[in-house]
Amino acid sequence: MTSSHLRPKHIPTRMCITCRSTGAKRGLVRVVRTDEGRVAIDLTGKRNGRGAYLCHTLTCWTTALERTSIQSALRLSTLTEEDRATLTSFARTLTLEQPMTSSDVSTRLHGG
Ligand SMILES: [Zn+2]
Repeated sequence: MTSSHLRPKHIPTRMCITCRSTGAKRGLVRVVRTDEGRVAIDLTGKRNGRGAYLCHTLTCWTTALERTSIQSALRLSTLTEEDRATLTSFARTLTLEQPMTSSDVSTRLHGG
């Protein structure tokens, strides 16, 4: 009689290259190096090539650009102006930190 074991499935670790947090909760954005040695935002997560992950926060993106974390993670010698513009323009669509909850909206009316 053989007992069957449930083996834990291997899950590839996705970690933000800036803050090292795993994006289990909010998910991470994948940046991929294309065949041409360029940088592209991979929203589908299915593109081939060396990839790096970043949080959905503007802070992690700007920090990564300042520290040159992205090119080292993607094994690039440098980022071209176009690549940098691509990353910067995408970062601008992100929020600063965690999105604020809008549940605190209260209107105070003062009658006079
Ligand atoms: Zn991060």
